Amino acid sequence: MSGRGEAGAEAAATAEDVVPLAQPVLGPEEEALVLEVLRSGQLSLGPRVRAFEEAFAARLGVPYASAVSSGTAALHLSLRAAGVTDGDEVVTSPFSFVATANAVLFERARPVFVDVDPVTFNVTADAMAAAVTERTRALLPVHIFGYPADIAAIERLGLPIVEDAAQALGAVHADGVPVGGRGHPAIFGFYANKQLTTGEGGMITLSDPDAKQRIDSERNQGRAPDMDWLDHDRLGFNYRLSDVASALGLAQLRRLDGMLADRARVASRYREALGGIEGLELPCEDAGGDRRGWFVFVVQLPRGVDRDETIRALAQRGVQSKPYLPAIHLMSFYRERFGHREGEFPVCEAIAARSVALPFFPAMSDGQVERVARELGGVLSVRRAA
Ligand SMILES: *Cc1c(COP(=O)(O)O)cnc(C)c1O
Repeated sequence: MSGRGEAGAEAAATAEDVVPLAQPVLGPEEEALVLEVLRSGQLSLGPRVRAFEEAFAARLGVPYASAVSSGTAALHLSLRAAGVTDGDEVVTSPFSFVATANAVLFERARPVFVDVDPVTFNVTADAMAAAVTERTRALLPVHIFGYPADIAAIERLGLPIVEDAAQALGAVHADGVPVGGRGHPAIFGFYANKQLTTGEGGMITLSDPDAKQRIDSERNQGRAPDMDWLDHDRLGFNYRLSDVASALGLAQLRRLDGMLADRARVASRYREALGGIEGLELPCEDAGGDRRGWFVFVVQLPRGVDRDETIRALAQRGVQSKPYLPAIHLMSFYRERFGHREGEFPVCEAIAARSVALPFFPAMSDGQVERVARELGGVLSVRRAA
């Protein structure tokens, strides 16, 4: 999600009036660290990349982290490290950002979708187990909207796991392990709306030193760490994260606890403010010891309400919102390539059809939350009366 809505939809309210979907927290700390890199003259392949990786790994309690240019690049290299290749199957969720499934296609493997849980919106171990065949090379669970998927149960299926934790920085499993801290390759993304941003960027956390070495080589054109730049012993990519971006990441990491606490505060304000709207369903509460890492605040509109109309009416009242997320298997490219159709994953489809992301960011004031709730309540009561 970008911070901008459609130009036309914003016309009714002036720019200062608009409550944006997302907004990064950037201050003098970010400016100082970035400026230091600019003045050092070393903008890439310098010391900040490793410093960011080490700080990130320490935060999640894993031995290694590899910084890359995006969450999508992180998915691609993690799947390669898991051995995914031509003709393999990777079991994953249709209720995710499209990059999750696209990364499987990069390696000419097939994403095998399974339906999601109606409460958490995550894939379950049982659904994954039912989709496993002799061609299954890896399982790719997604911690959607920052709610922890049940990785402990998925581990019992005994297959390689890559976790899409791009939305789940700050989430914690019931056993106390941070999401992304179990040692399987787990990926994070640092686009501007994420819990931590480097503008664009990504990270892989993992515990296997061989996988770490392969990933570090493949992000840098296939060069081995001790090898002269003239020789490259395998196929690689340019998926490097710059020192400028890494410096930004280091500053963001230092303020991460504060930003996460602010997101949690905004979420609880939303619960209070939206509680009275009939038929509106809010994100599930933490249960069984799992803790969400707040990323977006996505509501399910009351049944029968026209979502597009609701989003347009909110925009006219100066509140940005967005259908989020669409089901991957129903996107035109996936329909055409794999023959997917409506009705295949009914839980995912029902959720995807009613989901709306509301403005959600750490600096959001109580007044802004109340305004969003008031406008949404107003729009829905008009629609109901019509
Ligand atoms: C943000 C995100 C990614 C990674 O996206 P990039 O834009 O490539 O950094 C991957 N999966 C999910 C579920 C995401 O939300």
